[in-house]
Amino acid sequence: MTEYFEVHHRDGAARVGELRLSEPVRTPALADDVVDDAGSQWPERRELPEGDPSRVTILPHRGFPSGTPEEVQEAFAPEYPELDAPSGVVVSRETATDFGSDVYVLSGAQGIVGHAEAFVEAIVAVREAIPADSALYLPGVATPANVATLAYAGVDLVDTDRAVIRGTQGKYLTGDGEAFLEDLAELPCSCPACQQPAEQADREDCIEHNVNALQAELARVRERIRAGRLRDYLEGQARHEQWLTATFRRLDQQYAYLEQRTPIVRRAELTAASDDTLRRVEIQRFAERVTGRYRNRFDAPLVLVPCSARKPYSESRSHGRFHDAIQFRGHTVSMTSPIGVVPQELELTYPAQHYDSVVTGRWSATEIEFVADVLEAYLERNDYPRHIAHLPEDYLPIVERVEDRLGIDFEYTVAEHPTDADSLSNLASTLSGEPKYRKRERQHNTLRAIADYQFGEGAGDELFEDLHIESRYPKLRAHDADGEQLAALVPNYGTLSLTLAGAKRWLDSDVPTKRAAIDDFVPRGSVLAPGVVDADEDIRVGDEVVFEGPSAVSVGRAEMSGPEMAESTRGIASEVRHTETR
Ligand SMILES: [Zn+2]
Repeated sequence: MTEYFEVHHRDGAARVGELRLSEPVRTPALADDVVDDAGSQWPERRELPEGDPSRVTILPHRGFPSGTPEEVQEAFAPEYPELDAPSGVVVSRETATDFGSDVYVLSGAQGIVGHAEAFVEAIVAVREAIPADSALYLPGVATPANVATLAYAGVDLVDTDRAVIRGTQGKYLTGDGEAFLEDLAELPCSCPACQQPAEQADREDCIEHNVNALQAELARVRERIRAGRLRDYLEGQARHEQWLTATFRRLDQQYAYLEQRTPIVRRAELTAASDDTLRRVEIQRFAERVTGRYRNRFDAPLVLVPCSARKPYSESRSHGRFHDAIQFRGHTVSMTSPIGVVPQELELTYPAQHYDSVVTGRWSATEIEFVADVLEAYLERNDYPRHIAHLPEDYLPIVERVEDRLGIDFEYTVAEHPTDADSLSNLASTLSGEPKYRKRERQHNTLRAIADYQFGEGAGDELFEDLHIESRYPKLRAHDADGEQLAALVPNYGTLSLTLAGAKRWLDSDVPTKRAAIDDFVPRGSVLAPGVVDADEDIRVGDEVVFEGPSAVSVGRAEMSGPEMAESTRGIASEVRHTETR
C-alpha cells in the first residue's frame, strides 16, 4: 500500500505527484535531500532501519548489474518488510513487482539511459509491474537535457549525481545539450552561478550551474504536465539529442502504454509542429473513432472543405462563407493535418477544437499519406450520393489518391481559392436542386454522432432512440420523449455528460459501458480511489463512468484510468455529477 505518494496531475505517462513527507515534495523532483539509502546487503546483512517521516528510507537491497539472469536475481532477492514510514525498494526490470512500497528505485539505470530501445522497454516493464500510485526513481542519470523525456516516460524521481559529475569534468549542461565550460564565450544562463564572465567561472560554478539548470528544467516539466502540454514541449526539446528523439518515437510504438494514460479530453491546446504529432495517442484515437465509431446520418452530398485556423470551424469566417453557399444542402467535412477528417457534427470534440498547426500551404508526404488513409477509411464506411471537393490546390493530391483507390469521382468547385466569389458560386450552383435538411435533423444528428464518437458504434441510436432537444447549439441538452433529461453537450470538450437516466440507458444498451464497483457508501462530490473495489480496464481520464455499490449508483467523469482506480490507495477517482441511493 502506498501511503506516502499521491498523483495529482496526469499527462500521458507523466505525472505531477506528491511525496507525502513531513515537508511534502512535488514530483518529478530531485531525490537527493529526501532519500536515505539503508545500503547494500552484499557485504553484510543489514538491520532494518527505523524509518523517518521526513525522508524516504530505501530498504536494504541487493543491486544487480543489468543483464543478470532472472533466476540469479530471484535467488538473491532480499525480503522487504513493511515499514511504518515512507519507504523505497530497489528493483530491476526483472524483479519489479508490487512490494507495497512508496518509491521504486530502478537499479542499473545508467546502463539504459542513452539507449532508446533498452530504456523504453525497461521503463514500460517496470511501470506496468509496480503500482500506479508509487514513484519511480532513476538514480544517477538525469541531465537538464534528458529529464523531460524521463518524466514523459513515467519517471518521478531523479538526482543530481550525473549533473555534479559532469560539472567536475568541466561540462556545462543546458536543456539543449552540453558544452565544455572552457569553450564558452558567454554563459547562456542567469542562475546565481552564472552571474560572471565565462572565463572566470570555475568547475565549482559549473557544478552549481548544472544543478540549478536541472532544477529549473524539472520546474518547467511540472508546469507542462499541469497544463497537459508536456508532449508539445518534448517534440521540440527532445530533438537536441538523438537518443531522446529516438526514445519518444519508440514510446509512440508502445501505444497501449501511452493510450491507457492519455486523457480523452483536455482543455489545453495541442500543437502540431511536426510529423511526429501524427503518432500522438490523441491523433490516432481521433482517427480510429471517426473511421470506426462515427456514422454519417445525413442523406446529402459530401462537401469536403479545408480546415480553418479558428476553432470550432463553424465560428471561422471561411466556414461562414462555405455555410452560406451550402445552405444545409450538403454534409460538411473538414480536411486537416494532423487530424484527418472532421465531420461537422464532431467539430467540438477533442482535439478537433483544440489543435493548432503550422500552416505552410504545403503538405509533407507523411501528412498526405496519413490524411489520405483516414479519408479512405472514412469513405469506405460512409456512403454519399455525391462527392464534392471544395478544396485548395495543396489538398488535391489527397483527394486524387482516394479517387484512385476507391473509384469515386469528386466534383471540384474551387477556381482559385475556396473563399473567392467564383468558387463559392460554383459550390452553391453545384448543390442547386439538392433538398435542404432541417435544423432539428442537424441537432439530432449532432448529438447522436457525438454519442457514437464518445461511447462507441451505435451509441447514438441506442441512447437517443427517442430524442427531444432543448437549448441552442452548442449547449444542446438531450431529453427523452417524456421530457426527462438524458445528457448535456459540454461545448468546451465536445463530450456528453450523462444524467442518471442517461446512464441507465447506457447500462441497458448493447454499447460497451464503463463501470466501477464501489464499497458500501454514498458518494458525495467525489469517489476516492480506496473506495473503488474494481473498475473496467478501458476507463480513461475524462470518460463517463457509472459507479455502482450496495448503497448507491453514481455517474461522473473519470479522473484516473480504470487500472489506476483499481490499484490506487490514494487520490480522486472521479468527481460525481449525480447520485441515487439504493
Ligand atoms: Zn547557470
